[in-house]
Amino acid sequence: MEHNILVTGGAGYIGSHVVVRLHEEGFNPIILDDFSNSEKSVLDRLHKITGKHFKSYEGDILDTGLLEQIFSDNQIEGVIHFAAKKAVGESVEKPLKYYKNNVSGLLTVIEAMLAGKVKNLVFSSSCTVYGEPDELPVTEASPEKPANSPYGNTKQIGEEIIQDTVTSGVALKSIALRYFNPIGAHPSGEIGELPLGIPSNLVPFITQTAAGIREKITVFGNDYDTPDGTCIRDYIHVMDLADAHVQCLKHLDNTESDNHFDVVNVGTGKGNTVLEAIKAFEAVTQVKLNYEIGPRRAGDVEKIYAQVDKSRKLLDWSTKYSLSDSMRDAWNWQKRISDL
Ligand code: NAD
Repeated sequence: MEHNILVTGGAGYIGSHVVVRLHEEGFNPIILDDFSNSEKSVLDRLHKITGKHFKSYEGDILDTGLLEQIFSDNQIEGVIHFAAKKAVGESVEKPLKYYKNNVSGLLTVIEAMLAGKVKNLVFSSSCTVYGEPDELPVTEASPEKPANSPYGNTKQIGEEIIQDTVTSGVALKSIALRYFNPIGAHPSGEIGELPLGIPSNLVPFITQTAAGIREKITVFGNDYDTPDGTCIRDYIHVMDLADAHVQCLKHLDNTESDNHFDVVNVGTGKGNTVLEAIKAFEAVTQVKLNYEIGPRRAGDVEKIYAQVDKSRKLLDWSTKYSLSDSMRDAWNWQKRISDL
């Protein structure tokens, strides 16, 4: 029997890597994507990596009819829901676009799942729910802070929608994975993160600067209360993150109760400063980076990294890739898309 898993946003950065891992673990991923932030060529690249043409639907998660059709055409065992808009800055300018896509989109997916009697849902959440944490490392019990963008708010609301739906007693088992900072790319260099204008994340900025697309990296502040004064993040290789999703599906499948919700941090458990990340890139690629120290950037959290005891125990999962591996793979991917 085919273990069909619907992957919304499966052509995107994280989704495409999860499709690979699902295939490797004997699942049959089915992709739903509107390609609003991904390229159709990803499907060919997935074929190159796996040797398999995955069934895919081009369409919008807000299209109830399409979701119903997907659930009736295929015996779906679970849904991994990635499809969402993710640009924090844009969400401040266009909040309704974010609430519609990320919140109404989640509602549409859950309603269709309930109608189609599909029980297992993995939801992409984010460590943004913790804001500036009071204690480090952050555990799943650490208090949530008011979101500092409509994007962040859609993740908090998303978790609440799932929690409330489960509390109402319907047959739904779900885990919200709170991602820390996903970086890197598939080691083959075939898939990775597509740049969206000027990157707001460090690693795409690093690789684009190394590729000559950007003149220099500005490090936003070196007067934070950290060993070298720059911000600390928990950078996780996208393949490790992908693996956590597969483990999550297995866990949901083994969960006896049909009515279950949990949240799990997905990070490495280790924080690295911005300067450490830059140095790790330089060391593994032998490419020197042009960077300067600038003023702090509004909205940046000083330091955050995950406590990963829960993911280790619950999902029987741990990370395999180092920061250097991530930088190497991010650079391979950048070289490929820049024809270097
Ligand atoms: P991405 O933009 O690369 O992938 C999202 C995919 O969803 C894209 O292929 C896009 O075309 C598709 N999509 C968007 N709206 C859609 C819609 N209405 N209908 C159908 N398809 C739609 O983003 P990503 O980095 O892979 O992120 C995946 C998920 O993880 C998102 O929910 C994001 O909020 C969450 N997340 C990402 C990060 C990160 O740093 N990348 C961190 C925390 C959480």
